[in-house]
Amino acid sequence: MEKATVRNLKDIKGKRVFIRVDHNVPQDKKDPKKITDETRIRESICTIRYCLDKGARVILCTHLGRPKEKGEEKFSVKPIVKKLQEYLEGTKITYIDDSIGSKVEAAVNKLKDGEILYLENIRFYPEESANDPEFAKKLANLCDYYINDAFGTAHRAHASTVGIAKFVPAVSGFLMEKELKILGEAIARPKRPMTVILAGAKIADKMPVLNNVLKLADNILIGGGMTYTFVKAQGGEIGNSIVDNSKLNYCLGVIQDAKARKVNLVIGMDTVAGDEFSPTANTRIFDTDKIRDGWEGLDIGPRTIQAFKDVIAKSGTVIQCGSLGVTEFEKFAKGSYEVINAIADSNAITIAGGGDTAFSVAQLGLQDKFTHISTGGSATLELLEGKTLPGVAALLDISKIVK
Ligand code: AMP
Repeated sequence: MEKATVRNLKDIKGKRVFIRVDHNVPQDKKDPKKITDETRIRESICTIRYCLDKGARVILCTHLGRPKEKGEEKFSVKPIVKKLQEYLEGTKITYIDDSIGSKVEAAVNKLKDGEILYLENIRFYPEESANDPEFAKKLANLCDYYINDAFGTAHRAHASTVGIAKFVPAVSGFLMEKELKILGEAIARPKRPMTVILAGAKIADKMPVLNNVLKLADNILIGGGMTYTFVKAQGGEIGNSIVDNSKLNYCLGVIQDAKARKVNLVIGMDTVAGDEFSPTANTRIFDTDKIRDGWEGLDIGPRTIQAFKDVIAKSGTVIQCGSLGVTEFEKFAKGSYEVINAIADSNAITIAGGGDTAFSVAQLGLQDKFTHISTGGSATLELLEGKTLPGVAALLDISKIVK
């Protein structure tokens, strides 16, 4: 079902539009005021600018991190507001230190056409993650229209992503539209052969995706922290490498299923291991099934790099989710960077599935060489898993708004 977008809202001049953005940006660990990657802010400008140019009164709402209690300074959106102001020079942006209540209502009433009110971190209220209907209704009362442009949070059914849409006309923003179009197309009608790279350290999040990816992809490349659970399941020695012991049988099932479906499943065959998880670790190359105790696989090895490159060179679509090594440590970043370079050089439709992958692409300055860099790693995974994103399902169908 096609969803309505901000473009379908006829006249928003003087209207209060509540835009749920995903400004959950990475911050410097030591100095949270420093934003280390502003992609999500930059990507949200298009919808914000469109609404401002049409004379709307814009209310912006995001979450930031996982605060435990209200008002925790390191989770305040203040640095984001400052950064946004750099992108929107000349636009009046008012920050308010709350997300709901009489102070916020008063600030909304004072908003003029073409101005922005930026609400404080919506996750300071536990009602947000609980998708509390009363809370959602109060948010809805602040506005005439709701625009969801937070693709990176669309997999969560929260008050500001799903609940609010019950009480006010709800449409998608341009970023949400772009993400769904490009990812939807690449998944539903991929240029073949289709290659999905699954890597990274969140093994539990990535494993379930394989059930559906086995039905979609021609090649599946398993690297990074995902590798060793597959290797151990087949009886290999993985030393101290990261593993999810609850998924060993699942991995054997995946290997069998891939054979039955004639999917080319390539599991990293060698690794650059470290004798500790540290940037200064000693390094040594092992076959992934013969890693000695005291060593942990922290990057893909040269044979794996070559095997992955060979598959990528022949692919029509490549979607990468997760880092192939610990890119935070220079000694273990080579495999990730070489593979990203190979993807950038290919003629395929190329998609970086959010988070760390997007960060590495940016480090290498290769953003322009990718077809699409998603702002939502987990949301991308859920689309690959074949799920409908609740934040999207909650929006109006286009037929309900365009007569
Ligand atoms: P994810 O959030 O699942 O995409 O995981 C990204 C993280 O995976 C990055 O911080 C990498 O450092 C980490 N990673 C990649 N390969 C490995 C590995 N072999 N062992 C431990 N962590 C890894």
